[in-house]
Amino acid sequence: MSWDVIVLGVGGMGSAALSHFATRGARVLGLEQFEPMHGLGSSHGNSRIIRQTYFLDSRYVSLAKRAYELWRELEASTGEHLMTVSGGLMLGPRDHNVVDGAFKSAQEHALAHELLNAAQLRKRFPAMSFRDGEWGLYEPTAGFLRPEACIRAHLARAIAQGAEARFGAPVLDWASTGSGVRVRTSTGEAFEAKQLVITAGAWLSRITSQLGLPLTVERQVMHWFTPATRAEEPALEALPIYIVARDEGRVYGFPFVGGEGVKVAFYRSFVPTQPDTVDRNVAPEEVAPVRVFLEGLIPGAAAQYRHSKVCLYTLTPDEHFVIGMHPQYDNVVLAGGFSGHGFKFCSVVGEIVAQLALDGGTPHAIGLFSPARFARTQASNQTPVT
Ligand SMILES: Cc1cc2nc3c(=O)[nH]c(=O)nc-3n(C[C@H](O)[C@H](O)[C@H](O)COP(=O)(O)OP(=O)(O)OC[C@H]3O[C@@H](n4cnc5c(N)ncnc54)[C@H](O)[C@@H]3O)c2cc1C
Repeated sequence: MSWDVIVLGVGGMGSAALSHFATRGARVLGLEQFEPMHGLGSSHGNSRIIRQTYFLDSRYVSLAKRAYELWRELEASTGEHLMTVSGGLMLGPRDHNVVDGAFKSAQEHALAHELLNAAQLRKRFPAMSFRDGEWGLYEPTAGFLRPEACIRAHLARAIAQGAEARFGAPVLDWASTGSGVRVRTSTGEAFEAKQLVITAGAWLSRITSQLGLPLTVERQVMHWFTPATRAEEPALEALPIYIVARDEGRVYGFPFVGGEGVKVAFYRSFVPTQPDTVDRNVAPEEVAPVRVFLEGLIPGAAAQYRHSKVCLYTLTPDEHFVIGMHPQYDNVVLAGGFSGHGFKFCSVVGEIVAQLALDGGTPHAIGLFSPARFARTQASNQTPVT
């Protein structure tokens, strides 16, 4: 059987892509090396921040708005609870990009927000401890997604609309055949389709090695803690998500969730790794600094350590995504390099890749994500582009 589209990699983005293709009536096959909702890539660990203010670049705001709509639609069509709007606090010195960039993007796009000084923050968030001179940009629409539930919901919708997904099916290689693509798995099967969408997460460089995309995979650790007593839980449940820039580093975290605790992590580890050989054990020395940070920010929240999990970022040099047509093949779409901030956009990235493959273009502004920008950089550095 020949397919309209093969989606290579069924994680956060691939499951969304499957759902959008199937909803549009395309005959679509997803191939995934591991099990559904596995914990070896980038889309596990119970929670992901979603927000509309965007300090990295305000050009993400309209995508974020569409992502919200699509997550709500997915909730409505599957009956799964995926998104919790807790409010979000971007905290740091007034001129730090985490605060100032979020503030500017809120102003530019007329997003609801409040800019609060330390005295106002103390009154507003009594469970948190603020330093003199700190400012907070509060976004009432921010919150968090449940990534495993999001993948489950996208998969359920995709399959209900006729998509097929094979798990335990690692793709060995793929080739353009002129009229389409041929994809081979390491179990010896071959599949043909008119188009290929590659959503391989931390494995993207490997499966597109001829492109030489400048991606770095980084090991990141998420940690969970609980307070000493259950009486403290309601105050922690009422917290917003937060992104905090202090001298000790940049940390983000989530409100308390029953049965899980509070989750917190440093934004970057700067530890490059490879997805198949990454050390998935977490040493006590890695827990200590984040625990100290959390105690300083939310006293009592880190009384008991629960556990930690390793996750992978796939970073581009400019931290912008890679979404667009393969520079050499007009029937291959790439979506990767999500640089540690992609999950909130899965729903809209699924829509975009389906539009690219089925319509030959998308109304969304994705120029920022062009895969060709790296080819240009490499050419100007006189590095051979293969
Ligand atoms: C600790 C951590 C915290 C984060 N926090 C946030 C946040 O708060 N907000 C936010 O928006 N984003 C956040 N992110 C980023 C976000 O989670 C990622 O950008 C997103 O999950 C990437 O999705 P993906 O589909 O590209 O990767 P994945 O979900 O990993 O999917 C890629 C899939 O491709 C499969 N695959 C690869 N190669 C092959 C092959 N050859 N054959 C078959 N299958 C293959 C993999 O097994 C995998 O399932 C965070 C990431 C981490 C690690």
